[in-house]
Amino acid sequence: MSIPFEKIVEEIRELYQSDSIPWIVGYSGGKDSTASLQLLWTAVASLPPEKRVKPIHVISTDTLVENPVIAAWVHTSLLRIGISAQQQGLNITAHRLTPSVENRFWVNLIGKGYPAPRPKFRWCTDRLKISASTKFIQELSENNGEAILVLGQRRGESQARDKVMDQYQGSTRARLSKNKDPRLSRVWVYPPIESWTSDDVWEYLITQPNPWGIDNQELFSIYRGATPDAECPIVVDTSTPSCGDSRFGCYVCTMVTQDKSMQAMIQNDEQKQWMQPILDFRNKHLAIEDRSVRDFRRMNGRLTMFRDELVHGPYTQAHRIQLLRELLLTQRVVRNADQKQGTQLIELISIEELDEIRRLWVEEKGEIEDHVPRIYSEVFDEPYPGKELEQVPLDATDLSLLEGVAKEIDPAAANELYKLTRSLLAVQFQSMESHKRSKHLDRLEGVLQHYAFRNEEEALEFARSSITTKESEGDASDPTASIA
Ligand code: SF4
Repeated sequence: MSIPFEKIVEEIRELYQSDSIPWIVGYSGGKDSTASLQLLWTAVASLPPEKRVKPIHVISTDTLVENPVIAAWVHTSLLRIGISAQQQGLNITAHRLTPSVENRFWVNLIGKGYPAPRPKFRWCTDRLKISASTKFIQELSENNGEAILVLGQRRGESQARDKVMDQYQGSTRARLSKNKDPRLSRVWVYPPIESWTSDDVWEYLITQPNPWGIDNQELFSIYRGATPDAECPIVVDTSTPSCGDSRFGCYVCTMVTQDKSMQAMIQNDEQKQWMQPILDFRNKHLAIEDRSVRDFRRMNGRLTMFRDELVHGPYTQAHRIQLLRELLLTQRVVRNADQKQGTQLIELISIEELDEIRRLWVEEKGEIEDHVPRIYSEVFDEPYPGKELEQVPLDATDLSLLEGVAKEIDPAAANELYKLTRSLLAVQFQSMESHKRSKHLDRLEGVLQHYAFRNEEEALEFARSSITTKESEGDASDPTASIA
């Protein structure tokens, strides 16, 4: 049995008026968060104007790698929420949150070279989804002493739902629980539809008109066009179930083998076929079987062994270049389709992200070839529109001369020798430019250590002998021992 919506509306009215703690509603645009917000809106709108003063903040995180159909739906809905709240005299504000540039997907994958997310290295959820919402919630709760977070969580099993029903026998405040994340210790969680099944949610949405003016039938069609029960819940902390195993997540998600919802949308609707190149990019270029395109060293240049093999680190420069080129090519194809259809331009990667990738490659990795503007110009046939970067005094001709010299000196390891030399030069130029000599020697030493081996075989041999030496000295390391 589930709680009828009228009773939930009543409960919300009571809770809303019981204190002055601001409310934050986690809104993903999916059915559960839509139903929660709709209940809340209905409850507050039914109060006399002088009692509607407590602020309600509707937050939605756009990871910037969302399924474009869902992202557009959420974007429109947030705009409607803002306009309708104002028209109806409600203290409701909508906020579209995005990850800071250094936390974005392409900056980490292509810029830093983080391998595609996988169960043992799931670097994305915190960066893409949690960081922005946590920051917002933390700031609001600190400024106001406390905050109440309204989430569209539901209990799957009937036993768990019965427990929720029991809570209704006690006081309304018993429905609030403390947030488990220590960063959000001043935040209470309120899940108004905890007792509902998926069918309850749909029944409510279809029979009750949406108060901010979106069409709940349209939401239903999006779900039908994808797969049943395909919502990605809004993730605000590590205790919230992640979206990796539900189907409306990021289109780049490698926690699932296929993006079934995008696939179904394309199959079910001719109007959505422009997304096919995005799906093709994902299927062809994002995979977790990627050992061969990752450096044999870790990000910090260290060697790590596991079962007599080196644990590979970030993507190689060649692979990052290929990923960027393919992504931009996909963007070009999608943009051409957009222009033909006269629809809103879909941006897979922004200039701001390209600027950051360029900075990471040149300044952090010492890749002074500065490939980003060249790749951009080759793909779009126009000059790179991003920010200027401090020029290094070596141009493409100098660098190709350097490559030639490396080949002459050591043909078998020319690539590593070239990279070592250009990275040393990069450190030298950066120190001269910034006039900061303090860490100069450390950085030079870092480069020398990073390129200490001519190839993977040499590194592996060194790692094996180091482990043997440690073991014979009675310092046996664990199987994932870092060596250098
Ligand atoms: S949907 Fe996938 S890629 Fe996106 S944050 Fe969740 S786990 Fe990471």
